[in-house]
Amino acid sequence: MGLKYQKIGDIVIVKKDLTSDEIEEILKKTKCKAILRYTAQITGDLRIPHVKLLYGNETETIHKEHGCLFKIDVSKIMWSQGNIGERKRIAMIGKQGEVVVDMFAGIGYFSIPLAKYSKPKTIYAIEKNPISYKYLCENVEINNLNNIIPICSDNRNVKLENIADRVIMGYVHKTHKFLDKAFEFLKEKGVIHYHETVAEKIMTKRPIERLKYYAEKNNYFLTKYSIYKVKKYAPGVWHIVVDAEFEKR
Ligand code: SAM
Repeated sequence: MGLKYQKIGDIVIVKKDLTSDEIEEILKKTKCKAILRYTAQITGDLRIPHVKLLYGNETETIHKEHGCLFKIDVSKIMWSQGNIGERKRIAMIGKQGEVVVDMFAGIGYFSIPLAKYSKPKTIYAIEKNPISYKYLCENVEINNLNNIIPICSDNRNVKLENIADRVIMGYVHKTHKFLDKAFEFLKEKGVIHYHETVAEKIMTKRPIERLKYYAEKNNYFLTKYSIYKVKKYAPGVWHIVVDAEFEKR
């Protein structure tokens, strides 16, 4: 029948309502405990999904990816399957002993794999949605990590100046508006992983202009950068990430 679905832990997410035969088919194939459908685009800065349960009633699960465990309630928190490659890339990107600030930590999408595989000294994982924060704390526990400090706050209210070798900005809504804060976290020399959604035509221009503008404003200069495509976001629009290295003037 070729039904399209996404499996997060033992929960299946589909894009349309299903007939009882289709539900049966998915249950047979996946042995899932619940099936749900997103009813609207995920919106707002807390990235809360809107869902309809088509089968079952339990929506909390543990998803395993790249050897990491992510406990999540898929009816309350988003899981972006499209970011799987970026979560893997970030896992290995850090250097042992670094200090990292993850400004939009969610349930630990980037912090957990980075803490596990790159062995930084400390990751300050900041998340303002209390439900995501609760899962972030649980995920630190179930992955047996002792190098993540979860902080439940709007990152703009967190006072950690000049401490980070690396800042992760895994958020795509006017991310540039948070760059002043990212430079406040950054040491005299460091890396910012800057995410943005951008039209393909200006993909190599606009994010770099923005990074240079905010670097200048904060007395830094851009020394090196690479741009990577994370996923297609909309027709002609990409979710990209720039690995940008800076030094203080
Ligand atoms: N990168 C993730 C992935 O791989 O699936 C998705 C990150 S999620 C879209 C972004 C998170 O940033 C959400 O959990 C949201 O609550 C949080 N957030 C948004 N604005 C914030 C702010 N000002 N301070 C702290 N957290 C914020």
